[in-house]
Amino acid sequence: MQDRTVDGGISMSFNGPKPPFDFHNRAEFPARLADWIGHVFYDVLPKHGYEIREEQIFTAYQLADAVGKHKIHFAEAGPGTGKTFAYLLSAIAYARLMGKPVVIACASTALQEQLTGVDGDINTLSRLLGLDVDARMAKDPRQFVCDVKINRLFNAHTKKLGDSLSEVLAWAKQTDRGERAEIPHVPDRVWADVAWDEFSSCESCSSRGFCRLVKAREHYRPARDLIVSNHGIFFDDLWTRKERIADGKPPLLPAYAAVIFDEGHKVLLPAAMRAGRQLDQAGIAGMLSFLEKIQGARTALLSAAFAAQLADTRFFEYLHQTALQADERADRLAVRIDQQLLNNANTLRRALDILSFELQNEQEMHIRSLSGARMQTYEARIEQATAALDRFCRNQGEDTIVWVGREDDSFWVVPRDLSSMLKEHLYAQKIPVVFSSATLSLGGDFTYIGRTLGLEHPSVSSVGSSFDYEKQVQIYLPRRFPPSDQEASFALALRHLGSLLRLSRGRALVLTASPADVKRIRTGLKAFSLPFNLLCEDSGERGHLIRSFREDISSVLVGAGFWEGIDVPGESISLLIIWRLPFPSNDPLIEARRQEVQEQGLNPVTEVDYPEMGLKLKQGCGRLIRKSDDRGVIAILDPVLGMPWQQVTMEALPAGAKVVYRQEDLTVLSSKP
Ligand code: SF4
Repeated sequence: MQDRTVDGGISMSFNGPKPPFDFHNRAEFPARLADWIGHVFYDVLPKHGYEIREEQIFTAYQLADAVGKHKIHFAEAGPGTGKTFAYLLSAIAYARLMGKPVVIACASTALQEQLTGVDGDINTLSRLLGLDVDARMAKDPRQFVCDVKINRLFNAHTKKLGDSLSEVLAWAKQTDRGERAEIPHVPDRVWADVAWDEFSSCESCSSRGFCRLVKAREHYRPARDLIVSNHGIFFDDLWTRKERIADGKPPLLPAYAAVIFDEGHKVLLPAAMRAGRQLDQAGIAGMLSFLEKIQGARTALLSAAFAAQLADTRFFEYLHQTALQADERADRLAVRIDQQLLNNANTLRRALDILSFELQNEQEMHIRSLSGARMQTYEARIEQATAALDRFCRNQGEDTIVWVGREDDSFWVVPRDLSSMLKEHLYAQKIPVVFSSATLSLGGDFTYIGRTLGLEHPSVSSVGSSFDYEKQVQIYLPRRFPPSDQEASFALALRHLGSLLRLSRGRALVLTASPADVKRIRTGLKAFSLPFNLLCEDSGERGHLIRSFREDISSVLVGAGFWEGIDVPGESISLLIIWRLPFPSNDPLIEARRQEVQEQGLNPVTEVDYPEMGLKLKQGCGRLIRKSDDRGVIAILDPVLGMPWQQVTMEALPAGAKVVYRQEDLTVLSSKP
C-alpha cells in the first residue's frame, strides 16, 4: 500500500477513499491525524457555528493517539464534551487507512439510530467536512421478522389470530425491510411470535439468501468506514467468530480495523449474556407439551418427551426453591447451588439428549409427524438447553455464574472468567479498542473498571464536563440523619423531599434505589398535598412517562430505573433528588466480583460496592445538567457526611459544584424565575 511521490517520499495508496489528510507513511499517520483533528475543531467546525471546547479537543487528541498506536484505551469525557465527534474523526480516518471499517458499538438500538439518523453526528460530520462517510447499522437480528415463523402462522392458525398479530402478518406480506421500527406499537409478546430468535435455524433455512434478516446483514457487510452495532451484536460476533469461520460460515460482522464502545461502562452484562446460555423454561415446556400430543409419532419419541417433561418440571421446581428472592432490586436472582440442583440438572440434560436422539431418528425414518422447520427449531432449542446444563454441571458449577431471570424465570449460565475471554478474543487481536463513557473512573482512578474488564494497565484519559458546575449546580447534603433508625430516617427524608419540591415548584427527578421506595414515596407524599403531577415509574410505559415529564414542566418523576438513559434538558429537571445512594444489589454478577476480590485478599465492600455505587451515582448526577444554561440542585437524602462512603460519594458529584447544608442556602433554586 505504498507509492513513490514526486518529491521522492513514500505516499500511501488506497483501494477505497483515502484518509482526509496527506501523509507519507504509516509512522506519520498519528501525527497527521492529530494535525487534522486540530484543524477540524479549531478552523472548520467554528465556521459552522460550533464552539471550541477544549475538553472535546483534548479527548479527540487522546483518541487519535490511542487509535494510531493500537492501544486499549479508556476515554472518559464528562457530560457536554461532545465525545462522539471526538471519536468519529479518528474512527473514519483509521478505517480509511486500514481499508476496513471501524465498529462503533452502542449500548442500545435507540443510540444506534440516533448516531446514524439524518441529523445524527455521523451525517452531520460527513456533511460539514465533505467526507461522504459510508456508515451502516448492524441491527440486532431480534429486530427483524423471520419468514419461517410468518409462514408457519399463515399456514397453521389463520382463523384464530388476534388483531395485533393479524396486523403484523398483513404488514409482513408487503414490507421490504421487515424491521420492528416500522411497526413500533406492536407489543413485545406479539413481536416475539414473528421475529428471529436464537432458535431460528437460519443455516438450513430454505429462505436463506432471500429473507429480510439476511438482506439486512448483506447491506451492512460492505460498509467502508463505520459499522454501527450494539454491544450485544458485537459480542455475539466476537464469541462465535472463530467457530463460524472454521465451520465455513461468515461471521456476523465483517473484518474490522478497530472497535469503539460508546457507553463503554455498560459492556459487561451484554458480554456475559452473549457468552452465556439460557434455559428458557417456557420454551422448553411448550416444546415438550407439543411433542407429547403429536399424532403419528413413534412411541420412543413420545416416551422421551414425557421423561424430559418430568425432568424439566423437577429441575425448575427445585431451582425456584434455591433462587434467592430477598433483594427486590435485582433483576437477576442469585441461586444457591447444591448437589440436588446439580443432580437435577444432570438428569434433565440426559433426558434432553435422549429426546434429541429420538427426534433425529424420527427425521431419518422420514416419519412426517413434525414439519422440517419445527424439527430444526426444536433441535436448536435442545442444543441450547443442553449446552447450558453441560456448562453448569462441569466442575460442580464453579466455572459459571448462574441466575434466574426475575421476569421470565429463565435459567442463565454465563462464564465466570470473562476477563480471560476478553483477553483471548479481543485484546489479543492487537487492534485499537476504545471504551468511551462519561463514567469510567472515580476521582480519575480507573482501577475498578479496568479490573472488571481484565485490564491491569490500560491507557486512560479523563476530562470533566464542559459545563460550569460551579455556577450551574449546588449540592445539598442535610447534616443530620439517624442512619440506624430506618423509620425515623424515612420520615425525615420525606420531610426534606416535600419542602425541596415546594422550593423548586416541582420540576424534579427523584432517583430511588428500588421499586418499593417508589411506592413508599407516592404514599408518603400524599400528606403534603403538593400541587404537581407525580409521575411514578410503575404507573406507565417508560417512554410515555419521560415524554409527559418533559412536557409538563412542573411534574415530578420518581423511579429506580432513571439513573441513566434519560435526557431531559431545560427546567423540567431543576432538582435532582438522590433518595438512596445506589449501592449494588445482590446481583450474581456483582456477587462474583465480590468473591473474586475477596480471593485476592481485598475488601469487597470498598473494592466493589463503593466503586459500583460511585459510578452509578455519577451517572445519575449527569441527568441534571444537559445544556450550558441549565441550572439545578442535587440533594442527597441519604447519610453521607461522616460515613465511610463519604469520599467516594463526593468524588462522584459534579466537580466544582458548591455544597450547602441548609435549604435556605439553595440560591440556584430560589433564583429561578
Ligand atoms: S434465514 Fe433465519 S431469519 Fe431468515 S427466514 Fe430463515 S430462519 Fe428465519
